[in-house]
Amino acid sequence: MKLFLCCKVNMILRPSGKRSFPAWIKSREFWDSTFEERYKKRRDNWKNLPLKVILMPHSHVDPGWLKTFDRYYEDSVKHILNNMIDKLDAYKDLTFIWTEISFFSKWWKDLHPRKRKLVKKFVREARLEFTSGSWVMTDEATTHFYSMLDQIIEGHQWLKSNIGVTPKSSWSIDTFGHGPVAPYLMRSSGLNNTVTQRMHYTWKQWLAAKQADDFIWRQTWDSHGDSDILCHNFPFDIYSIKHSCGPHPNICVNYDFRKIRGEFTEYGMKAEPVDKMNIKEKAEILLEEYGRSASLFQHNVVLVPIGDDFRYDKAEEWDQQYINYKQLADYINKNRDVYNTDISFGTLSDYFSSVRSRQKSFTTIQGDFFVYSDIFTDGIPAYWSGYFTTRPYWKAMTREVEANLRAVEILYSFASQRARQTGSHFWSRILDKEYTSLSSARQNLGLFQHHDAITGTSKENVMLDYGQKLLTSLKITDNVLNIAASSLLSREGQFIDLTSDIERQSFGDSPVRIRVNEQGRKARVLLYNSDPHFREEVIKVKTSSPYVLVKDPTGTVITHQINPVWTLVNDNAHSEHGELFYSKNNFEVVFIANLDPLSLALYEVIGQAESSNTAIATVYKNGKLDNRNVPFDQQKVKEGDIQLENNKMKVRFDGRSGLMRSITLKSTGRTTECQLVFGAYQSTQFRSGSYLFKPDVSTDKPYIDILNDQKKEIIIVTGPVQSEVTVLYGSLLIISFVVYHKPGSILESGVHIEHFLDISGKYRETEVFMRFLTDIQNYKQKSDNPVFFADINGFQIIERKKHAQAGIEGNYYPITSAAYIEDSSRRFTVLVSRAHGSTGFYKGGVEVMLDRRMMYDDGRGMGEGVVDNKNTLSKFWIVLEDKVQTKDEIPKLSLLSHRLSNALLYPTKLFLVEDGEVAHKRLNLITKPLPCDVNMVNLKTLADEYEVPSQEALLVLHKIGYSCNIESVIDKCAVNNNETFYSSTEFNGIYVSEILKTSLSGLHDNELIKSFDKVQVPPMELRAYKLRY
Ligand SMILES: [Zn+2]
Repeated sequence: MKLFLCCKVNMILRPSGKRSFPAWIKSREFWDSTFEERYKKRRDNWKNLPLKVILMPHSHVDPGWLKTFDRYYEDSVKHILNNMIDKLDAYKDLTFIWTEISFFSKWWKDLHPRKRKLVKKFVREARLEFTSGSWVMTDEATTHFYSMLDQIIEGHQWLKSNIGVTPKSSWSIDTFGHGPVAPYLMRSSGLNNTVTQRMHYTWKQWLAAKQADDFIWRQTWDSHGDSDILCHNFPFDIYSIKHSCGPHPNICVNYDFRKIRGEFTEYGMKAEPVDKMNIKEKAEILLEEYGRSASLFQHNVVLVPIGDDFRYDKAEEWDQQYINYKQLADYINKNRDVYNTDISFGTLSDYFSSVRSRQKSFTTIQGDFFVYSDIFTDGIPAYWSGYFTTRPYWKAMTREVEANLRAVEILYSFASQRARQTGSHFWSRILDKEYTSLSSARQNLGLFQHHDAITGTSKENVMLDYGQKLLTSLKITDNVLNIAASSLLSREGQFIDLTSDIERQSFGDSPVRIRVNEQGRKARVLLYNSDPHFREEVIKVKTSSPYVLVKDPTGTVITHQINPVWTLVNDNAHSEHGELFYSKNNFEVVFIANLDPLSLALYEVIGQAESSNTAIATVYKNGKLDNRNVPFDQQKVKEGDIQLENNKMKVRFDGRSGLMRSITLKSTGRTTECQLVFGAYQSTQFRSGSYLFKPDVSTDKPYIDILNDQKKEIIIVTGPVQSEVTVLYGSLLIISFVVYHKPGSILESGVHIEHFLDISGKYRETEVFMRFLTDIQNYKQKSDNPVFFADINGFQIIERKKHAQAGIEGNYYPITSAAYIEDSSRRFTVLVSRAHGSTGFYKGGVEVMLDRRMMYDDGRGMGEGVVDNKNTLSKFWIVLEDKVQTKDEIPKLSLLSHRLSNALLYPTKLFLVEDGEVAHKRLNLITKPLPCDVNMVNLKTLADEYEVPSQEALLVLHKIGYSCNIESVIDKCAVNNNETFYSSTEFNGIYVSEILKTSLSGLHDNELIKSFDKVQVPPMELRAYKLRY
């Protein structure tokens, strides 16, 4: 066989080329005479470069979508896997791949040992391959990299301890668009290949034309190719047999041989079984399609997926697909002289090793493939940018679970090791017992990263099932946090009774803050900072009296502020809007805690005799003033604009709307307009839904002023800790803007925004956004399109240029932590706490989608609109920064934004101490902070083969990249080069005997490292280490 030589020079391509609507769009097929000519030429050369076909049976199983995870398992998945054992045993050359360990591990639990042996045998024979090996096939747009990685670790660790296998290739065929973070995590976990499917139709055509559907995917910062992963992109629409054997679905549909009595499908009616009479014709037609597919690649190898959603649940299908394809393959192989083809069943690894043996050099691509657009339903572009925002309540909750889980993993690792090393059997026993529930909390979080879960694209009852599972995880993580903290702070054999300060009765309820117990007029509040950096955290607790003092762990009285707690009373006259009253028995104590890196600290809120108290806030209100006996100084809001001010800036608000207008930085005296607008797009019926976004541009207004008919009330509350403007817009929106007063703190450098938005009830075809309109010139010339920057999975930043032709829907991108715009002298950043859709469609504008409510389905299979909206809390930081004249090679957040983002994503945990003696008022778990450009992503105790905690923990570190062209307001705290710990850093009270460098999911161990001093992580990268005790 003559090896095919291809281009020697790697092209570096960034997928940001112009998108236009090509002429072939109506026919929904890019295959034209140029492609056909190229195929024919290639076909003439098959003697020199034979066609190689790999037939790969697979079943795409969603861990929840139209049915719940458990329902799918019972109805389909267990049958697929049971049949798999019988059929792989019966047909000795049959292959199969499996991706979702969530399903597989559930099935394995009840599997007879004899069958377990068979599974291991199929794996050894390389006939059963685990692709990805992650808990689920994650969404790649709305997930944060913490959870993406966590569910890879969960799956990989399971595979290693139960089957003894390490995955080699990843399989991501149904996620709605593809980003660079999933391949990065897979590559860093030791996988060398990946597969993608759903990308924008013009990209599909472009890659096909360039014969570049197998390409090297490289990270944007990587100049050496360390992150390179070989990616195979399926060239046609979707992974069903009809859409994947070649460019012509009307031919391919005849090769889906599933025929089940009582099932009426297109393929069931069209596909004729292979027999002696038709085999030649059927084989030759199919070969043509395979040949066409292969002509899109330089190597002439074609990967043919044989399957679809939940296939092979019936034993007959296994027989039908196998027997028919086996006959075709045997016939083609027997006539090798005629067909010059080698065809067999195989796995994903078989495909990639064939490709690598035939082709040595590939096109290199950097960047991502968002936004996905298909054309196959209507022959017009349909942008999948709705799901970036769909069901925000769930999107917020998963991040809450994520923060809790990260916090507990770290604390648990310290607590259980401390208990073992100090010989405390009492605590060891209790903590070991909790490990199983901790695992289930991880697995629920992992499950929710599935591409129909966090995306919000499952049916309403399935979303509710996910919600319950998330709530369970919140409760578990709170409970284990309480136990771990109690074990670290109490005397041997004694419990400290800790409770979380937040209560959520059931899924869908807004969280309620519990009032601190002031019996004995002293309440104890325990704070846990899981960030390995010093943290200034704004703490809020609810008390029954406004007359209190706050003491830090040293007993020093610190500055605090007493705010009112409002109750909304609906009277008959104002039943829709209600009236605001001061709560008589509840007050909010606000203070800023100075917390050490990775530490626990006990603060006290102490009741005082009623007296004059400077901490009590002043309240400005434009409604009725409350003349009853309230402790607050009350005043009417003055006419005109409102201004809040601290040492760093002045923030102006529109006196009529109460919404932000501008920020003046005191460093330069320069004012930047940043006017906040709330609006709503009207959805196009049936084209905007859980997946798709399509605003109705036929209406004369580009958007609806959704606040216009709401009853409005502005309240300003100001005191020594913070000043706050709150605006109520009826029952629709409550928004507050806060500036903090703490000289020298980073808290003074941003505006904190929180709001509750509720579009349940009367709203329909409504997609609500907030837009900041600034005077920042994020374009080179007036005629240029604006540029904005969006994070991807909270891991890196990607530049997004406006493509006017694609409409607003084609210019919406996913954000999970940040978006910003900038010009030569300023940068305006919006930090977010959960996934949103976001766009920089308008010059000087950053727009963030908040919630969506659509009555109708958008025709992508889910079959429902989205009407289960809930009152949802969103949190943001707004950061305005001065730039200095240097240039970053790739876009990055500033160090300040990174720090504020950390505070948003991983807030300090607050526990109320109900009872028991706290032996240590302050406990530091680490002797020094980490440099401020190093994040501790996780420190997670690994399980041993019996699924109990082992003597090993996986430490994952992230050396963030930060922008050098932003004036830093933070002291120099990053270290140069790749250093990751300050010298002689140690864990407090825990002896670490070995530090072993390993792959991200802990499957491929590398070299031993002497101490933390020697740990090296290059900027932008994640690295993992096994700590052995
Ligand atoms: Zn799917």
